[in-house]
Amino acid sequence: MKFISTRGDAPALSFEEVVLAGLASDGGLYVPERLPSFSKEQIASWAGLSYQELAFNIIQPFIDGEIEDQDLREIISKAYCSFRHDAIAPLIQTGHNEWVLELFQGPTLAFKDFALQFLGHLLDFILAKRNQKVVVMGATSGDTGSAAIEGCRRCENIDIFILHPNNRVSEVQRRQMTTVIADNVFNIALEGNFDDCQNMVKASFRDQSFLPDGRQLVAVNSINWARIMAQIVYYFYSSLALGGPHRSVSYSVPTGNFGDIFAGYLAKQMGLPIEQLIIATNSNDILHRCISENDHSKQSLHQSLSPSMDIMVSSNFERLLFDLYGRDGSEIQRLMSEFESGEMSLSESALHDARETFSSFRLDDDDTIELISSVYSNTEYLLDPHTAIGVAAARAKCRNPHVPMICLATAHPAKFPDAIELAAKRSPNSKLSEPKLPSHMSDLFEREERFTVIKDDIHAVQSFIAEQLGT
Ligand SMILES: *Cc1c(COP(=O)(O)O)cnc(C)c1O
Repeated sequence: MKFISTRGDAPALSFEEVVLAGLASDGGLYVPERLPSFSKEQIASWAGLSYQELAFNIIQPFIDGEIEDQDLREIISKAYCSFRHDAIAPLIQTGHNEWVLELFQGPTLAFKDFALQFLGHLLDFILAKRNQKVVVMGATSGDTGSAAIEGCRRCENIDIFILHPNNRVSEVQRRQMTTVIADNVFNIALEGNFDDCQNMVKASFRDQSFLPDGRQLVAVNSINWARIMAQIVYYFYSSLALGGPHRSVSYSVPTGNFGDIFAGYLAKQMGLPIEQLIIATNSNDILHRCISENDHSKQSLHQSLSPSMDIMVSSNFERLLFDLYGRDGSEIQRLMSEFESGEMSLSESALHDARETFSSFRLDDDDTIELISSVYSNTEYLLDPHTAIGVAAARAKCRNPHVPMICLATAHPAKFPDAIELAAKRSPNSKLSEPKLPSHMSDLFEREERFTVIKDDIHAVQSFIAEQLGT
């Protein structure tokens, strides 16, 4: 299978090349030339498969023989053996026709483990085969960093540099990254916000001349195709668990960079009957404004209680735009250069098509706290603040109450104790209290931390990286 750029002006790549590539040379994102698609009968025949078996069936057509089936099975099996729950992605009922899909059973307690445990093992396999070493560089607003570090810490052919905005990730999130003490792991606390971190990474990918000879950068943020691909699996898995594909289900997805929900869109394109995909945002609401009032403009960044969704621009949205504009790369180039000035608007037909599949909703911090508290008092189930936004969106935007609604639970509540504490204050008579970290992390606050604070300056960051690699 070939992969092509959303801006239409970069060479097509093979699967292994696209895993290593990151951004395309024309600034676009890679997508498969054609999506595999599955008939209803075929999907129905997968009912009862384990998560790993299902993952193999869904991922294998994208790889198209470039990796032997046996090797792919092994990569998948290694990726998901670090999850603490046998179901890998368990469903919990929280309302009459409402479920929460717990995607936080992996090593760092956020859904990003689904993609990054897989990507780490996949990269390890590809690099060993090619006898190649790479540098992973990524930006994180919280959960990506720790999941990427956990995914790569044992990879022999990878050095990993993760930039996080200094003082703008939760203490649990920071410690999950900075307490991994390994020779190939480097944490950079950038004096800026998440978008500054992301711009730094983008600029470094454009011009990699600061690296020692023979090294190249690999992206592990959600622009990496393999991450999106791995996330398609849990849409199929949860639908099958609730009677799909013989009936449709809907999903509500807490959204930042549009990676997670884009995987749901792909599942639908591949044949899974999905009724509604709901984009749930916090007050950093560019996607909600875009879908609801065709206002896709950059606004200043708000720090919220759901920091993993604190973004000004959703990079993966470009992948959807590519489809909405008939896969015409020159249209995307035009749109994106328009957007560089700060805003763009979609054509009537693009907006119409987007609204066929997607609904959108925004929730501010105060209502997020309220929702955590009310769901707890009705069910004794504790939501993290990101998931809470998804549940609120599901309840507000549900079009058909007879269709099962699945809310993706993107993080464990113990990752965000500040929000939970506020929710506990909101309902003083309930038993709601700070959730405990799972036992493998109970000493997180006593572990030694290692990170370097660097100013928001590209040369400072790049010379730090070169120095670490130079020895
Ligand atoms: C990353 C993240 C999100 C947003 O996911 P995207 O793929 O960027 O849309 C939501 N919730 C949590 C907890 C996350 O870590």
